[in-house]
Amino acid sequence: MNSENSDIAALARLIRAADRAVVFTGAGISTESGIPDFRSPGGIWTQMAPIDFDDFLNSEAARIESWRRRFAMEDTFGKAAPNRGHRAVDALVHRGKVRAVITQNIDGLHQASGIPAVKVIELHGNTTYARCLDCGTRHELADIRAAFEREPAQAPRCRRCKGFVKTATISFGQAMPQEAMQRAEEETLAADLFIVLGSSLVVYPAAGFPELAKRNGAVLAIINREPTGLDRIADLVIHASIGDTLGAAVGVN
Ligand code: NAD
Ligand code: ZN
Repeated sequence: MNSENSDIAALARLIRAADRAVVFTGAGISTESGIPDFRSPGGIWTQMAPIDFDDFLNSEAARIESWRRRFAMEDTFGKAAPNRGHRAVDALVHRGKVRAVITQNIDGLHQASGIPAVKVIELHGNTTYARCLDCGTRHELADIRAAFEREPAQAPRCRRCKGFVKTATISFGQAMPQEAMQRAEEETLAADLFIVLGSSLVVYPAAGFPELAKRNGAVLAIINREPTGLDRIADLVIHASIGDTLGAAVGVN
């Protein structure tokens, strides 16, 4: 058996032996759907700095720029569909093997792959819709876009309370969502196998979950093309593409 096949066999064995696995995903699982990650060579941050939450609150120019980027992104990635990696995770959830998917992604592709929304714990929110920062009303992107295109010199405001409207994501400098953080911690502590897919594991507190799982006695497996911050403590590390590796281990195309 070559090393690639033995990696896949080792991963399949860990999955078979587990009763309560948790999957933890980062931007790397969605690159095969055509959405770039941040930290691969050529990733988004090699091209533009993120807009901090404080800048969004304090500057109309920053709000306008943030929406301009969001709609520019929509034209490229709006049609992204789940890939083989997402399908493999969905299969594990439907087989009852995986109890929860903790994701740093904001693209909604786990839900689009068929995983019930209640089993997807979004640590960094969701960019496929927006919310008013004051009253919490949900706004659909198509409506916001129409308003923005009518009045491009003005950042979109809430139709109910005139508050600032922002994608439902967690920006740098914005508080983590408490309920998601708590559920992620509970699922992590209940896991006997913790599988990381496509995360550089350098963004905290998100990267604290695999660490916590390992400390709590779970087996830790990491599939990531490049080395991660936690390779040294993992039980199995596979530096390869997620779709082919997990797809083969799980028997999903
Ligand atoms: P990251 O960009 O820091 O790391 C992604 C990792 O995935 C890299 O180490 C890369 O080597 C690996 N990778 C890329 N494609 C892969 C593939 N097909 N198979 C295996 N490995 C692959 O991503 P992160 O750790 O998730 O942190 C970035 C932050 O940016 C997250 O908090 C997330 O919220 C946000 N983000 C989300 C999306 C999305 O929703 N799709 C996209 C970009 C950034
Ligand atoms: Zn409002």
